[in-house]
Amino acid sequence: MRAVDIIIKKRDRLKLTTEEIEFFIQGYTRGDIPDYQASAWAMAVMLNGMDVEETTDLILAMARSGDMLDLSSVVPIAVDKHSTGGVGDKTTLVAEPVVAACGLAVGKMSGRGLGFSGGTLDKMESIPGFNVNLTTQEFLEQLRTTGLVLAGQSADLAPADGKLYALRDVTGTVQSIPLIASSIMSKKLAAGAQAILLDVKVGLGAFMQTLADARRLAELMVSVARLAGRKAVALLSDMNQPLGCAVGNALELKEAIDTLHGGGPQDFREHCLTVAAHMLMLGGKAADEAQARQMGEVALQKGSAWEKFRALVIAQGGDVAVVDDPSCLPTARRIEIIPAPCSGYLSRVDARLVGEAVVALGGGRAKKGDPIDYAVGVVVQRKVGDRVEKGQPLFTVHASGEEKMAQACQQVLEAHAWSDSPVEPLPLFYGVIR
Ligand code: URA
Repeated sequence: MRAVDIIIKKRDRLKLTTEEIEFFIQGYTRGDIPDYQASAWAMAVMLNGMDVEETTDLILAMARSGDMLDLSSVVPIAVDKHSTGGVGDKTTLVAEPVVAACGLAVGKMSGRGLGFSGGTLDKMESIPGFNVNLTTQEFLEQLRTTGLVLAGQSADLAPADGKLYALRDVTGTVQSIPLIASSIMSKKLAAGAQAILLDVKVGLGAFMQTLADARRLAELMVSVARLAGRKAVALLSDMNQPLGCAVGNALELKEAIDTLHGGGPQDFREHCLTVAAHMLMLGGKAADEAQARQMGEVALQKGSAWEKFRALVIAQGGDVAVVDDPSCLPTARRIEIIPAPCSGYLSRVDARLVGEAVVALGGGRAKKGDPIDYAVGVVVQRKVGDRVEKGQPLFTVHASGEEKMAQACQQVLEAHAWSDSPVEPLPLFYGVIR
């Protein structure tokens, strides 16, 4: 078998066999197939798609590219969550400590920023010393002792996704249902949690632009999870405007810390509590959503979720003094508040434009392996439906220099649109796939 023939077959819109997919993924993981062939293959998949059988084969091949953890040797049940990627989506940083504080173990393998969407690993790495590169043994040990782990792909766990994810980020091959489903589900299956909550984003700042595509992706992932013997639920959630206010690594971390202390933007807190409630139900800790929600609220109010977050930072070598005093987190050289240019009701805060502005500020990557500027980003102060008067603060830009500041201000201003008549706020959720 030759990699080039598999690329040609997909280029010509033909269906790949289980053996071909296995050959390609194992070859790429070992380094026998180079990045340029994997890029061409990913572009062919992106343009020509894969059917359900091919996607299932791809998920399983990628999951098996490294170790497959069995967490039942460590905890009776572990739950995991994953978002399909959004702008300002720092839900993991709050929902997972909430769930762990309620006594349900959370073992998660996260990703880095991808295209215009941020990544949990980059956000957590704004904490000096925080180590996301855990060995399998370290992952298991921390799950047993702390009940909460947040690791990246390693040489041991779903390494095929580790390589492909970084390649897709810089080759325009992110927005593909089979590639997103295989990236997410390979990590979830390899990390071994018995119950999985999928947060499938839809809208301007999501990889799925329509509810129909988001539903298709959600149903596919839930059915593969079930096929692999896991419990899974998917939420369809809004990503037309940024989630919460902060977009950018250290800024999002600060907002998550505020939320863990009982503050934070209302939409973000509500989103986190709903995600946490579904995780608690999936893990059998709560009989219904009302009970699960109550447990989550208590974990935030009593500070136990915050204590779990601190324990996570300490367990993974992060400087806990920095999260105790977030003013010690990286701070941008220039900070500018931009006022509203007119009065009216906000009809759009385009999450994609905001996400792209943050990547251009240095908060994301243009090339594989590019360094991240943790300090930069944007804080949107207003949401769709808000009435805003001319001159009131609209958003804040945190930049490293003059030129980038000017560019970002312009771009984020263009992300906002106005209406003279009242506008309905956007919903947080559009549905649940069980
Ligand atoms: N999250 C992932 O882990 N992979 C994707 O491809 C998209 C979002």
